[in-house]
Amino acid sequence: MKYEELPEWSAKAAEWAAEYHATLRDRPVRPNVKPGEFAKKIPASPPELAEEMSEIFSDFVDLVPNAMTHWQHPRFFAYFSSNASAASMLAEQLANAISSQCMLWQTSPAATELETVMIDWLRQALGLSSQFKGVIQDSATSATLSAVLTMREKALNWQGNDCGLAGLPVLRVYASDQTHSSIDKAVRLSGIGQANLVKISTDDRWAMKPESLRAAIETDLANGLLPAGLIGCVGGTSIGASDRLSEILKIGQEYNLYTHVDAAWAGSAMICPELRSIWEGVELADSIVFNPHKWLGANFDCSVQFLRQPKNQIQTLAIKPAYLETLEEDRIENYSEWCIPLGRRFRALKVWFLLRAYGLQGLQSRIRNHINWAKQAAARIESLANFEVVTPPMFSLFTFRYAPDGRDPDEATRELIERINQDGRIYLTQTTHDGKFVIRLTVGQFETQQHDVELAVEVIEQIASQSP
Ligand SMILES: *Cc1c(COP(=O)(O)O)cnc(C)c1O
Repeated sequence: MKYEELPEWSAKAAEWAAEYHATLRDRPVRPNVKPGEFAKKIPASPPELAEEMSEIFSDFVDLVPNAMTHWQHPRFFAYFSSNASAASMLAEQLANAISSQCMLWQTSPAATELETVMIDWLRQALGLSSQFKGVIQDSATSATLSAVLTMREKALNWQGNDCGLAGLPVLRVYASDQTHSSIDKAVRLSGIGQANLVKISTDDRWAMKPESLRAAIETDLANGLLPAGLIGCVGGTSIGASDRLSEILKIGQEYNLYTHVDAAWAGSAMICPELRSIWEGVELADSIVFNPHKWLGANFDCSVQFLRQPKNQIQTLAIKPAYLETLEEDRIENYSEWCIPLGRRFRALKVWFLLRAYGLQGLQSRIRNHINWAKQAAARIESLANFEVVTPPMFSLFTFRYAPDGRDPDEATRELIERINQDGRIYLTQTTHDGKFVIRLTVGQFETQQHDVELAVEVIEQIASQSP
């Protein structure tokens, strides 16, 4: 295919995309496919000779969409949404056209500078003070790993990078039992080790108990271990739990811990000033991650990490071989020095398009609607016979279970969610909470309307009433 043919095929792709989005409600959210079924339709070896784009394109149309889970479906209530607003999709198309490697200022001047400005727009949108700078990463997992590596190196005065960890003090990292598995992964990959991630128990509102945090740090100090970092949780993945940051981050500061806040999902909601009391105290954090690719509407991938003093993370991650040196060092940012990968995509463009095409008010009203509709759905489910809301709406996520008389609630709930997802009109996922198997319902898709959420409750009620 030649570049001259792009207009024709891009136009076809755009038409297909518009039609796809306009008709998503007619598709099952999750496809009815068996493992291996799709791969069987694709030749086992690559073609020796070039094929016509018309054939490639029609194979895509015929084979792929029917075997995909539709994350942009307005009745996707599973996991957390991964929104792709139309404006951000368009920006991604333009970024693809240029396809630059945004590792250094000189490899991508506009991308680098737009990233700096977009980080500052988002900082203002979330109500954070101007002390925070930041970087756009691919995922919260990468941002959290960057923060945990920085915890390690800061506690070891950057000796770990030079000499390895052997013979150095044993480091300890603290987080609540509601934090995401990406924190466990970061602690493993950093060489700190899973055994040194101390999970602090939570109170009756699922927030880390400050007195337990303090006791754990004191015990570790008494045992000759080195407390290095603290990770706070805002909007945890399982049920939406949040720590009281103002209390725990103060303790972190008192013990000179490097602190990171994981607000991967709920951070987007902080564009609504009335919600910011939930993360009160966040200004004390050294590092904060939130994913505009979840709730805000920037299509995947786009994870923002705010840093109070970027120099700590840069000192941990930057390596400057001669072939990457640039002139005029002090007036520019080289964002690859803030991250693990060297090569970086032009992600700031979709943030720019997103914020301009919808405005903060447009994005706020979506989030407020999602939260209100989730509350209404929880109230309706609570009123149904044999249903129990297990955790209340936090932001736009709640959990519930089905407990008809004479049946094991875990089994009844598991069987119900399987039948709901096979039906295909809505898509839900599960978690375990306090040892109970529960269904999560989170409202967050960009195009979801109130009637979609109402239909979700109807589907749940209807399928429960049809005996298996
Ligand atoms: C989704 C999520 C993550 C992981 O995000 P990735 O960007 O996929 O790595 C981490 N923490 C929380 C709270 C999340 O909701």
